[in-house]
Order: sequence, then C-alpha cells, then structure tokens
Amino acid sequence: MSLFPVYSIKDIEIVSAKGMHVYDKNGQEYLDLYGGHAVISIGHTHPEYVSNLTSQLNKIGFYSNSIKIPLQNELADKICSISGKKDYQLFLCNSGAEANENAMKLASFYNARKKIIAFTNAFHGRTSLAVAATDNPSIVAPVNETENIVFLPFNNMEALKEYFLQYGKEVSSVIVEGIQGVGGIREASPLFLKTIRELCTAYNAIYIADSVQCGCGRSGKYFSHDYAEVDADIYTMAKGIGNGFPIGAILISPSIHAKLGMLGTTFGGNHLACVAAITVIDVMTKENLIANANLMGNYFVQELKQFPQLKNVRGKGLMLGFDTDEVPQLKNILLDKYHIFVGEAKPNVIRLLPALTITKKEIDYFISILKQELNS
Ligand code: PLP
Repeated sequence: MSLFPVYSIKDIEIVSAKGMHVYDKNGQEYLDLYGGHAVISIGHTHPEYVSNLTSQLNKIGFYSNSIKIPLQNELADKICSISGKKDYQLFLCNSGAEANENAMKLASFYNARKKIIAFTNAFHGRTSLAVAATDNPSIVAPVNETENIVFLPFNNMEALKEYFLQYGKEVSSVIVEGIQGVGGIREASPLFLKTIRELCTAYNAIYIADSVQCGCGRSGKYFSHDYAEVDADIYTMAKGIGNGFPIGAILISPSIHAKLGMLGTTFGGNHLACVAAITVIDVMTKENLIANANLMGNYFVQELKQFPQLKNVRGKGLMLGFDTDEVPQLKNILLDKYHIFVGEAKPNVIRLLPALTITKKEIDYFISILKQELNS
C-alpha cells in the first residue's frame, strides 16, 4: 500500500496551528506566509471558526440538496453584501477547479456557444475544461484536449480585440484571473479587464473572473477584478472562502437564469461548508481584514523593495511576489534555516500568501530574516 506520488513533499509533519503559525510534531514553530496555498484567510484555528464548526457538527454536518438549507441563503446574502455584487446568485460546489468548470459550462448553456478564451500563463484547475483552459500542457491529458479553448496573450488588448473581431459570435466565455497566481503573481491590467468586459458585453459572451486565488479579500478588495471597476458575469471562488474547509462557489449575474437540474453536486453547500464560509465573512467583517490586507500589503511591498536581490516586487494586498533569480535557493533557505513557509512559482518566483490577519510584527520579523540572509 502506498500513496500515489504526485506531490513533491517536504519531510515536515504539521500537527497543529494557531493564527499565523503552524507547528510540527516536534513542537517546532513555523511562520506561515504561504497560508497553506492561499487558503488560510482568517488565520489558523480561529476560535470563532472552531467553535461554529464544532457546534454545527454537533447538530448536523450534511444533508443533500434536496431539502432546504437556509445556511446557503445566509451565505449568499453575506457574499453579495461583502462583495457589493447585489442581486447576484450563488451556486456552491467543492473546489476551485469545480467552480471554474461550472462557470464555463454555465456560460455555454447561457449562449449555446463553445469557444472559450483563456490566457497565457493561466491556471484554472485540473478538471476537464479547467485544465484545458490552463496554460500548462504537461498537466493536460489527451482526453482533456479540446479545440474549444483558445489561448491569447495575457494583458494584450489588441490580440483580444482581433480575435473577437474574427470569431466574436462563437465566443462563449472569457476566463481570466485578476492576478495570476500559479503563473507568478501577474496582475491583469485594469484596461485589459475593461476591454474584456466591453467585448463580452458587445458579443454576448460571458466574462468569468477566476477569483479562486485572488478573491475573497486577499487583494485588498473583495475581488481583485474590482480594481478595474468592472462587474464580471461570473466570479469563481474557493481557497480563502472556507479557511481550509473545502468549498467552491460561483457568483452569477442576475442576467443569467437557472434551469432546474442545470448544475448540481452532492456535497456542494453542505451545512458544515456553509458555516465555515459564513464564519469567514463574519470574522473578516468584524476584524476589518480586507482593509488589513490592503494596509499590510502596502507595508510589505515597501519593506521588500529595500532588497536589490529581490526583483520586481509586485502584487496587491496579501497576494505578493518577487523574482529570486539572484538567490534561487531562498525559498528552501527560508524553510530549512528559518522555519518560514512561503509559496513559489516557476522558475524563480516567491509568492507570499499569508492569512489576512497578518500584523506588522510578522512582516518585520520576516524582513529581519531577509536582512540577515541577504545582507550578510
Ligand atoms: N484557479 C486558480 C486561480 C487557482 O490558483 C487554483 C488553484 O491553485 C484553481 C483555480 C484550482 O483550485 P482547486 O485546487 O481548489 O481545484
């Protein structure tokens, strides 16, 4: 018996966590600037989160979508309110890939078209359509290959306009991350997102804002696409929305109408998932975490810019990155020598995706470690 070895795994066993830190089985503390891959939004084991999930578990954890689950309505209200996307409709699923899969499928139901525009460097997940829309042939199985997806250069308005001019009437949807995560923290320019909005409106195509990584407040706005002052037709979410509880969601414009049976899932929107996501929004609101992401993000960027070895410090809020070509071993050094988790992107990018609860104290500590390592 063995695990199917698809992950490259560090020899570390994390057994507990609190706030910005995680602890291994030997009691070693680690600073978590990775947020378990942009998942931890309100901090590890937040007391309100633990208490609400525990008490829900003692009542009921799951029942099927064939009965009323008012927690789903409460969650829909709260997402619409915190995001400002009034009158949007919520469909709940279980992961980011599933959210994108459902979004592209829904778009195709809506306009009865097949072509989907995705962009270079994009990552949208590993289910069939999502992986086909991901710009990484090595994870696309032959069965997932489809001519329905076309890749255009990211942030290139002219290529997009040109494509729409030729094939606009065939385009079902455009899927785009507000800030590419796996692609190495690359921001979509506001003009690019505005152009997507205009073209989608003109051709009755659906603008899908993949907000799985850059959404849920991480960028300093609820959706990073909000920086461009546009409304997408569908927002996809996962990761931070549940603070570790597996949940995916799509937020759907009122102009798209549901039909019975059009989408569905067994686990999506279960009682526990809803309580997790409701608690995340409640805590984000009470603790002003979106504002904190903004404030701490700006401070972080300013501090990181003092190191000439760290190139192109970039990102928004607490979705930050920089190039480490001059110090390619930095990620490993941070973990092995200083017990700090950070994320990466290929080939030499460090991604910082900490919980939105981060304070100056943790940032200053990280900066002091960089000073020690880079200035010695
Ligand atoms: N979309 C984006 C932008 C992501 O970063 C990811 C995961 O990293 C996904 C989709 C897929 O999410 P999941 O791993 O929950 O399926």
